[in-house]
Amino acid sequence: MNLNEIKELLNKYNAGALKKYGQNFLINDHVLETIANTLKDQFKNVIEIGPGLGSLTRYLVTTYDKVLAFEIDPKMVEILDDTIKEENFRVVEKDILKVSIEQEINNYFDNKEICLIANLPYYITTPIMLKVLEEAPSIKSMVIMIQKEVAERFLGKPNTKDYNSLSVLIQTYMDVSKVIEVSKNSFYPAPEVTSTVIKLTRKEKTNYQIDNEELFLKVNRLMFKQRRKTIVNNLKDIYNKESILDILNKLNISETARSESLSVEQIINFSNELNKIL
Ligand code: SAM
Repeated sequence: MNLNEIKELLNKYNAGALKKYGQNFLINDHVLETIANTLKDQFKNVIEIGPGLGSLTRYLVTTYDKVLAFEIDPKMVEILDDTIKEENFRVVEKDILKVSIEQEINNYFDNKEICLIANLPYYITTPIMLKVLEEAPSIKSMVIMIQKEVAERFLGKPNTKDYNSLSVLIQTYMDVSKVIEVSKNSFYPAPEVTSTVIKLTRKEKTNYQIDNEELFLKVNRLMFKQRRKTIVNNLKDIYNKESILDILNKLNISETARSESLSVEQIINFSNELNKIL
């Protein structure tokens, strides 16, 4: 949809772009096509979060067999119901953070190989990602538009300023790659930040071995608590210092190393070793 179509639709339904729901509508056809097409050869079923006025949805319903969308704003749902009549589309008026995604998937799709495609509401990007990761194993891949700075975290590599516990968390469970950067002008209204579309694909469980998930999550969080501190200093108040040093030596990691220099695999290995002695 172009800018005029968006404005006309908002006018016709006496609607506004609501800041509280992160409503910035896409008006760039090239970007919309790129987002819709990235996973089209691998998937037939798609979930969309936040269809809004349907800019992206219109591409999805012609590219995929079935589209299930979750939208929090009743006004947007009313507009979608009136304007997108394709039979392969269903919109559910629910807050994505409160819905049981896997249950909705079971109710709507026959085949459980699902992808997620969305221009996300930026104010809840991380909670949405964590929820999908934990609660929706049927979602195998995602193409999502997020704030550029958050995308850089997701993509962050060791020894760069963008690498932190969120990078480790996302990269433990998903392969992440950049699809396209999107300027503010591609939206109405223009957001305050630049955006990036990224692709994430769930890794097979056999590709990583985490012995104690809860411990791994805790260690990952603690390790990056203070970036300028060494691993030992970040962990020594919680775990025995000698044990930490033993593990670092066993894994051939310097005793003075900082977490930002450790690969995702090294952090997993560290938590597995720690798990053995707790
Ligand atoms: N997909 C549309 C587009 O690209 O033009 C709109 C994207 S807009 C950035 C984000 C959309 O997410 C809005 O339609 C907003 O109402 C919706 N939204 C915000 N919070 C939500 C939530 N918790 N659950 C479901 N949808 C939500």
